[in-house]
Amino acid sequence: MELARAGSSRRRFLSSFGRLTVYPTADYQVLIPFGICHGDIPDYGPAVKASQLHRFGLLCVVSGPSGSGKTTLCHRFSEEDPMADYAVSATTRPPREGEQDGVDYYFLSREEFEAKVEAREFLEYAEVHGNLYGTLKSEVTNRLESGHDVLIDIDVQGAASIREHRNETIHDAMIDIFILPPDGDGLIERLRGRGTEGEEELALRLKNAREEMRHWQEYHYTIVSDSKDADFTIFSSIVNGERCRTSRYRVQDAD
Ligand code: 5GP
Repeated sequence: MELARAGSSRRRFLSSFGRLTVYPTADYQVLIPFGICHGDIPDYGPAVKASQLHRFGLLCVVSGPSGSGKTTLCHRFSEEDPMADYAVSATTRPPREGEQDGVDYYFLSREEFEAKVEAREFLEYAEVHGNLYGTLKSEVTNRLESGHDVLIDIDVQGAASIREHRNETIHDAMIDIFILPPDGDGLIERLRGRGTEGEEELALRLKNAREEMRHWQEYHYTIVSDSKDADFTIFSSIVNGERCRTSRYRVQDAD
């Protein structure tokens, strides 16, 4: 439909050219494709308006072995997209050089972490590479309800717990993506290249990577890792497509 200013004389006329009907209202002529108008203009407004729609947020679970680039993907997406937030996990792992508390992780002692487990503050938690890691409910639930998408970068055990979560909101919001490195050599190179682990830690992560990769088929989406930009393009397409699912929308009452 197209709106055009009526002349000041507000002449009343009804004309048709081709299959386009021109109908004058008080201030506008309304061009109604294929329209047939009788008497007063009926309500041609849409059955639902965008302003009435509320979309529930996505809980986007991203897994993959250390060095697969999943953390970088999540950070980049949340930085570029105002509707997406990265949920900061809690961990008992000591911070690496340059990591900041509250930005990369909430760094906790084992006692502090266990107190939060006891207080049921975690959506899920697991022991990974000898340390505890967990997703705090406070990082997720309010954001989902306000229509924001939440990205969490967690291991395969954490993803399995969220899949089985009894809370319907969490269950319905979840999408899961596995980042699959193209081969083992590339992974070793990437891990060595980032230089954040000593030899012993590196060996443990490589051993665990093998185990993690066995679970890729449990995920709805798999990104076979290529360049950072190529991975990001596919990642964005998945999230944007999932955002459009009809079931994610609720119609709110009009004012
Ligand atoms: P890193 O020590 O390299 O930061 O993370 C080690 C592993 O822990 C990664 O596989 C990462 O996805 C996982 N991880 C990070 N946060 C969480 C979390 O909140 N829950 C679980 N289950 N795993 C996490």
